[in-house]
Amino acid sequence: MTAPIRIGLVGIGKIARDQHIPNLRANPAFDLVAGASHHAMEDAGLPLYLTLGEMLDAHPELDAVSICTPPQARHELAHLALTRGKHVFLEKPPGATLSEVEALSREAGRLGRTLFASWHSRFAPAVEPARLWLAGRRITAVRIDWREDVRKWHPGQAWIWQPGGLGVFDPGINALSIATAILPRPFFLTDAELRFPANQAAPIAADLSFRDDSGLEITAAFDWLQTGLQTWDIRVDTDDGQLLLSMGGTVMSVDGKPVIQAADAEYAGLYRHFAELIAGGVSDVDVSPLRHVADAFMRGRRVVTDAFED
Ligand code: NAP
Repeated sequence: MTAPIRIGLVGIGKIARDQHIPNLRANPAFDLVAGASHHAMEDAGLPLYLTLGEMLDAHPELDAVSICTPPQARHELAHLALTRGKHVFLEKPPGATLSEVEALSREAGRLGRTLFASWHSRFAPAVEPARLWLAGRRITAVRIDWREDVRKWHPGQAWIWQPGGLGVFDPGINALSIATAILPRPFFLTDAELRFPANQAAPIAADLSFRDDSGLEITAAFDWLQTGLQTWDIRVDTDDGQLLLSMGGTVMSVDGKPVIQAADAEYAGLYRHFAELIAGGVSDVDVSPLRHVADAFMRGRRVVTDAFED
């Protein structure tokens, strides 16, 4: 058995606590050594440092670093970790711009380190079965509905409303990461409307239209003001029935009948994949979901709506 990969976490916020720490502790391929976060939190059960630089100085034995900060900080931190010889796991989205992610990818290649731009929703249990089911069928329409309550899921996250924070595209990019994985052909944005609260720099809702090379129409609605039932659905009509991926890729139904309904194991899958990438000496950096978001910001109409307060 090979020695565990000694890993440090950067950005000990919600996702690091909910998913990264428990999944790293449960995976024998990793040894979670330390953490770095703006406000070091004693209760994480780890040696904690205020900056990545301090953590790297104190733990030169680290093989890898996982970056769970907001996206605006991603490039600077990943660049530092790569230049200090570490493999790097990037939370989604992999950066605040396409070019900075591509720069990291070139850097990882030059330095012979693994860079993994993770898309956790792609590891939801029904996503690969959906891709396989669709592969043999003719698709006639695709409809994405990603509607959730920002106050429930992102309370107090000021970064999400700032430039580079993506607003409603922070969850919406998860839908795009699934769509780019399960649909058989690449697609491109044809039209978009982005609704910005008067007092924020990022959208609270978006309607998007895409088309693929064969002329297939794909539409998406992202909405952050949905209270009550939360919706993370992708509906695909085919010549042989309708596939519904719901609960963010956890449940797959065909013509209304559940086919797959499995427990969430996204982060276990992500870290298995990261270990395989490191063992194979390769990287995995797919920027296609982020490219669609960039296209929406470039091509979309901007509509100003009511101010939003948390
Ligand atoms: P969060 O709760 O705001 O946590 C981010 C943490 O990073 C905070 O503790 C923050 O500290 C720290 N941080 C920021 N800049 C830093 C830096 N330069 N060095 C060290 N620490 C720094 O955000 P989150 O919800 O965990 O989301 C983080 C990322 O994970 C986002 O890209 C998000 O899209 C992704 N994600 C989140 C979820 C989720 O359910 N929340 C799910 C999947 C993926 P301060 O607050 O003190 O600045």
